[in-house]
Amino acid sequence: MTVKTRFAPSPTGFLHVGGARTALYSWLHAKNKGGEFVLRIEDTDLERSTQEAVDAILEGMTWMGLAWDEGPYYQTKRFDRYKEIIAQMLAEGTAYKCYCSKERVNELREAQEKAGEAARYDGKCRDLAPRDTDEPYVIRFKNPKEGNVEFDDHVRGHITFSNHELDDLIIQRTDGTPTYNFCVVVDDWDMGITDVVRGEDHINNTPRQINILKALNAPIPEYAHVAMILGDDGAKLSKRHGAVSVMQFRDEGYLPEALKNYLVRLGWSHGDQEIFSEQEMIEMFSLDAINKAPSAFNTEKLVWLNQHYIKTLDPEYVAEHLVWHMNNQNIDTTNGPALSDVITALAERAKTLVDLAASSRYFYEEYEEFDPTAAKKHLRPVAKEALVLVQQKLTETDDWSDESLHQVIQDTADQLEVGMGKVGMPLRVAITGASQSPSLDITLRLIGKERAIPRISRALEFIAAREAAQ
Ligand code: GLU
Repeated sequence: MTVKTRFAPSPTGFLHVGGARTALYSWLHAKNKGGEFVLRIEDTDLERSTQEAVDAILEGMTWMGLAWDEGPYYQTKRFDRYKEIIAQMLAEGTAYKCYCSKERVNELREAQEKAGEAARYDGKCRDLAPRDTDEPYVIRFKNPKEGNVEFDDHVRGHITFSNHELDDLIIQRTDGTPTYNFCVVVDDWDMGITDVVRGEDHINNTPRQINILKALNAPIPEYAHVAMILGDDGAKLSKRHGAVSVMQFRDEGYLPEALKNYLVRLGWSHGDQEIFSEQEMIEMFSLDAINKAPSAFNTEKLVWLNQHYIKTLDPEYVAEHLVWHMNNQNIDTTNGPALSDVITALAERAKTLVDLAASSRYFYEEYEEFDPTAAKKHLRPVAKEALVLVQQKLTETDDWSDESLHQVIQDTADQLEVGMGKVGMPLRVAITGASQSPSLDITLRLIGKERAIPRISRALEFIAAREAAQ
């Protein structure tokens, strides 16, 4: 049987990290088994579901690289199907119309609560003979009265619920709309879902859903209920913890590979391996190795992984992501070095793509002003001679390769009988505006001759102005 998993978000907000991790686990399990992954939008709550949230979820999934093989299905487009099943259940006697008023149900609940009992419908209409009336009604599932519902959860082990604890669930409201637990069941069945991976907040729904599946003679899927993600302060992850939407991680300069690697390890492990390529994740992933305990979000580790991927992924690929940040920081990359070359030069120092974009600005446009500390230290009258000479040599050469550029600096230092640093540091400040950059030959090569020569003049003017002011 083909393994088929699904991610079934309710479109009431963005794709948050908890949802993204559930989606990832579900996706990985399908891929690990050579199966299929379905995306289903659970939008039956018409008041809370929005198109913006649907778009945000699709955007988040796409950015994460979690491609779906089927869907997105929308529950609101399947109402006819739910109605059909409900009619069938009424005919077979596995569901019934309940005419109890809201007041009666409320009074019942209050009385039960007062008596310290769990609130549950008492089954008054369960065995009513069919009525010919236009009184309003809901439709309830006839939950078995006796016995247990049991299942082996891949994360939480063997779980038993007593049917005594479960009452007759409403599957269709008075207004004729189907309810959430019922739609999930019909969908999982119709879509051939073999493995349900979802948050553990759904664990109490599972026995109800299993009972309905049984009543429909539908196969029962396997279940894996994944624990919560907590903030680094131990509280349930929320907006308060900052980056909770997947797209916010994009905005903050993380690569999807880093977030994916981070999320796969957040609640799952394979020995003590920390870094997983996508292929390794797919090969090694197993639902049974998911942690039972909640996991705490750790931004430092995410940053560490991000640095790793910025350094090791193909620069051409990183460039596809960096371009978004360059645009976001208003850096026009049409005139200047290839982004992939800039990445190769700067990857070693960058923690995020936001940093990388910011520190690559001088390759594409003039710096606004010299960094005051760097200028004070390195653009002094003593540097004038070195700058003039190196500028002259750079103007003369057309070989703008790393080797040749290195040689120019070396020759300048030799000719002036000074150390390389005496030429290098003023030159660095001249061409980048600051005292930190990749090695000078690479920096010069990427900035290019047309930009580099005038920048040295700019530094010389700065020194002259400084001399004049003294
Ligand atoms: N729509 C549910 C949610 O967003 C998920 C239901 C499920 O996975 O069964 O929490």
